[in-house]
Amino acid sequence: MLASHSFAQELDLIIRGGSLIDGSGSAATKTDIGIKGDRIVFVGNGAGRNAKREIDATGLVVTPGFIDPHTHTASDLSDPKRSRNDAYLMQGVTTVATGNDGSSPPAIGSTLAKWGQQGIGTNAALFIGQGTVRQEVMGMSDAKPTAEQLDRMKALVDAAMKEGAIGLSTGLYYAPGSFSSTEEVIELARIAAKHGGIYDTHMRDESSYSIGLLGSVQETIRIGEEAHLPVMISHIKALGADVWGQSKDVIAVIDNARKAGVKVTASQYPYTASGTSVTAALVPRWAEAGGEGALLKNLNDSRLRPRLISEMEQNLTRRGGPDSLLMTASRDKTIVGKTLVTIARERNESPVDAAIEIVKSGGSDVASFNMMESDIEAFMRQSWVMTCSDGSEGHPRKYGTYPRKLRQYVYEKHVIPLEFAIRSSTSLPAETLGLKDRGLLKPGYFADVLVFDPKTFNERATYQQPRVLSTGVRYLTVNGQLAIDDGYLTTALAGKALKH
Ligand SMILES: [Zn+2]
Repeated sequence: MLASHSFAQELDLIIRGGSLIDGSGSAATKTDIGIKGDRIVFVGNGAGRNAKREIDATGLVVTPGFIDPHTHTASDLSDPKRSRNDAYLMQGVTTVATGNDGSSPPAIGSTLAKWGQQGIGTNAALFIGQGTVRQEVMGMSDAKPTAEQLDRMKALVDAAMKEGAIGLSTGLYYAPGSFSSTEEVIELARIAAKHGGIYDTHMRDESSYSIGLLGSVQETIRIGEEAHLPVMISHIKALGADVWGQSKDVIAVIDNARKAGVKVTASQYPYTASGTSVTAALVPRWAEAGGEGALLKNLNDSRLRPRLISEMEQNLTRRGGPDSLLMTASRDKTIVGKTLVTIARERNESPVDAAIEIVKSGGSDVASFNMMESDIEAFMRQSWVMTCSDGSEGHPRKYGTYPRKLRQYVYEKHVIPLEFAIRSSTSLPAETLGLKDRGLLKPGYFADVLVFDPKTFNERATYQQPRVLSTGVRYLTVNGQLAIDDGYLTTALAGKALKH
């Protein structure tokens, strides 16, 4: 038939002969995939199909582009010099969510519009941050909101959801989110629910600081139940010796809630160190009430000092002691790359005194080694756990999460099968975030397609050198355009700002 050879039928791109994993969890098959415009138009035998560009994927793995539900990329995407999002493209990530941990750009609509106008390398979606909203209305106050303040916060969440936010994020561990009661959060989550959004949380406690890991999981489930929306626990973990081994109990509590109809999922990064700051890790929240100025005043107040030191010592023990905290980024370059124990020895002071001095002179980001491998693996095996990077400066996870998960947990330790790992990085986050027509290799879906070499796909970033791009992505399309071609980044900025 003439029609089958007409120009209209010609594909823009065909990827032939790869081991194709569609993202649903189904087994790999050796087959072809065709793209036209920004969509996948067929998956199957492509013999006889013509395309402007042919890619031979023999020996390579073809999957949906990865979808990262928890990043800190808002400032990267807004800066024209960094908006290509190289660290993510080179891991095979084609979509990022950001605005997590309760902290987002305050103006959702104009941020999305700016990304759309300037161009971004990956697709991107935004949460509205509860901490951001609270700070706008109440500053860094630890007070309970008045009825009028609560109404203003609700109005801000409502506006953000109308402007395209995918849900409400909280960082109840951090100030000012930590000053919010569960009931206050439920009020705001109900607004997100009204618009079909989800609730994403860095929980109040991943350890034994306040209400405990299990108490925080229960708080999250309650928010899901009472606000009637799906809840996603960010970077699920058992942080510190006090809660090591509790993955078992956490999994049981979540499985029960899911059986009872609450939509609970979680994200996870595959590292034993978390990334945070000296302040967030060690300083008690009461010392932060009132903001930066109040914090410095409290740190210098000799009457508060005994209480401060004793609580900081407990927090340091909880995290694994002074050799578990590695300084990764600070205004004071002389401390970067050193652990707190080394700094304390050099200065001939106690680790907590050294930490207080670090906070006073501008603070420092840390890699905090506080997780057990067995807990990481237990969480990773759950069908409701998706991959996230939680990428932040100074931690290799921003550059290495996705290839690391496959290299270490699929290919080397065989903790999970490849198809399961791909699902946890594609269709599961797409469904959870409510991203339409993404996360699967299926006709009609957006052509976000990853082709990687299973022999070389790996992270290169380390704690010592966290900003090194990963290897092994051979081709990557974002909305049908090649963002990586034969291993090299192209100049394409084919990402879309995704509105809920
Ligand atoms: Zn977080």
